[in-house]
Amino acid sequence: MATHDLLPSRCPNCGRRNNAATNVDGDHHAPEPGAAAVCISCAYVSIYGSNLQLRPPTGAELALINQSSTLHSIQGAVIDATRRN
Ligand SMILES: [Zn+2]
Repeated sequence: MATHDLLPSRCPNCGRRNNAATNVDGDHHAPEPGAAAVCISCAYVSIYGSNLQLRPPTGAELALINQSSTLHSIQGAVIDATRRN
């Protein structure tokens, strides 16, 4: 995992200001447009737009998100962590 500093972008769901991203796929590259992001505050899955600002997923992207066991695991971990705090 590697954490990358990003320009601030608000979660489309909860409005949290996010300014960093950590990839969890074993790769160490920075996020690219079209990559999915899980909000560390509310576990909402958004998509990095062309300028790396977070946006809601399209219907087709949402269908892919719903099939991703990796994203579901990350969302579960965020939800567990927020319940403990
Ligand atoms: Zn959020």
